Amino acid sequence: MLASFPVRTGSRTSLVDVTRDVEAAVRELGIRNGAALIFVPHTTAAVTINESADPDVARDIDSKLSELVPDSASFRHAEGNSDAHVKSSMIGCSETVLVEDGRLVLGTWQGIFFCEFDGPRSRTVYVGEVGGGG
Ligand code: ZN
Repeated sequence: MLASFPVRTGSRTSLVDVTRDVEAAVRELGIRNGAALIFVPHTTAAVTINESADPDVARDIDSKLSELVPDSASFRHAEGNSDAHVKSSMIGCSETVLVEDGRLVLGTWQGIFFCEFDGPRSRTVYVGEVGGGG
């Protein structure tokens, strides 16, 4: 069984805190103790866990990635969004989070971020129980 939720991004690149959405998905799936896999089914987006207390951290990650992989670089892919594909592979399309007593096991400062690299778009995030049957 899978749960999913939509993410509507508002700019070409951004990190969107989806921790609450993942929590809701874990509740919906009835995961009490174990682990949840968060999966982003897009080739120009990603998911990462990092500091959510200071929003400047997410902004710094976003801007540093754009500095490392500028969209002005010469790429072969004709769609013009190769920078977004490269960033997606750098960050990765899944994360695993432990669940204890129905709650996400995250550090005090940690949050789960959807990473948009080729927006604005309507995106989807899947959540499933690791090792969950049926
Ligand atoms: Zn492309």
